[in-house]
Amino acid sequence: MERLIFHIDVNSAFLSWEAAKRVKEGKDDIRLIPSAVGGDRDKRRGVILAKSIPAKKYGIKTGEPVGMALRKCPSLYLVKPDFDLYENCSRSFISICREYAPVIEQFSIDECFLDMSGTGRLYPDPIKVAHEIKNNIRDRLGFTVNIGISRNKLLAKMASDFEKPDKVHTLFPEEIEEKMWHLPVRDLFSVGGSTAEKLESSGICTIGQLARCDVGAVQVLLGMKFGAQVHAFANGIDDSPVVAEAEEAKGYSNSTTLEADVTTKEEAHKILLALSDSVASRMRSDKGEAFCVGVTIRGSDFKDRSHQRTLFESTNITSEIYGIVKELFAELWDGRMSIRLIGVSLTSITKEVSEQINLFMDSERERSRKVDSVVDSIRKKFGSDTIMPASSAKASLSVGRKHKAHLEADNGNVKNKK
Ligand SMILES: [Mg+2]
Repeated sequence: MERLIFHIDVNSAFLSWEAAKRVKEGKDDIRLIPSAVGGDRDKRRGVILAKSIPAKKYGIKTGEPVGMALRKCPSLYLVKPDFDLYENCSRSFISICREYAPVIEQFSIDECFLDMSGTGRLYPDPIKVAHEIKNNIRDRLGFTVNIGISRNKLLAKMASDFEKPDKVHTLFPEEIEEKMWHLPVRDLFSVGGSTAEKLESSGICTIGQLARCDVGAVQVLLGMKFGAQVHAFANGIDDSPVVAEAEEAKGYSNSTTLEADVTTKEEAHKILLALSDSVASRMRSDKGEAFCVGVTIRGSDFKDRSHQRTLFESTNITSEIYGIVKELFAELWDGRMSIRLIGVSLTSITKEVSEQINLFMDSERERSRKVDSVVDSIRKKFGSDTIMPASSAKASLSVGRKHKAHLEADNGNVKNKK
């Protein structure tokens, strides 16, 4: 059976979702003015997470610092991120997609793949049904999407990135040469800035040039595995299946029931550090960054208390996450009750901004990231118990040993407790 895959991508998601909410409340549509989501205008910190089409005309880019964006466009209307809203909007558009597709894979908060293979009887014309899904989302929810149609995920994703907004595009294998090969190599999915530079400095500037290269030459440049993958992508080859996932927002969490009740801040901090370290490193191995950090404690009264904080910029840095976790813990615990369980969660995960943010990172963050990546690579080689933050060594061992089964059952999916 021939495969048929749709990739659905919300146009400037965070901005559209904010705009749709405001329009529903009878306010002006911020999609029509230079506007952006991200950071904090007064403190001029954080990065741009999404921008309107008028803002794009000023050269404002996703991932750039707010200060830089304001220099390009002083009248830029800035909105703070609202992840509760985003999660609601994300759930609503995915649920419309579910009305059409037997198998859906949510790829990020604003993107999903639909496996439409075998739906030919129900929907004889894939382009027509794509328009129906797109219009349905627009009319019912007030924001627009692009839909890419092809025989595999890679090509469907490339297709949804063609002209925006509110469009349906096909990129079938027979259209690759015409529609994909003229594009710059950095537009190919999985090719980031540094990979593109390596390719370009060897004279490989378009996807077509990459596709026609000898795979061995690409492997010399980019390594065996990644080189082969990128070369296959340039030729439109991708066999990965659409994997249905749970509907919950993806995230990472670790919690541990304590062997002995914790009664001091110092003990709690050690456990919080071990938990922060383990969730952050799991998230990093998936190349994710979190916009939301949460802490849960269970007191001797068996009641759970949770606090979470949404960040202006995403992070995957253990020391930053631990810093926030300590503050959240201080808000939750007044020291009067002993603690039986402690948990740390990372949610509102993004896989998109890390490389762009890296460009603008200050040196302290850069150093922290380097430390984390060295630790991660040593663990990959020698096992996860090899290194741990010094002050949490003991706590980390007991988290590891005693609660491994519990943690594994957790498996990276966390229900979004509110
Ligand atoms: Mg999008």
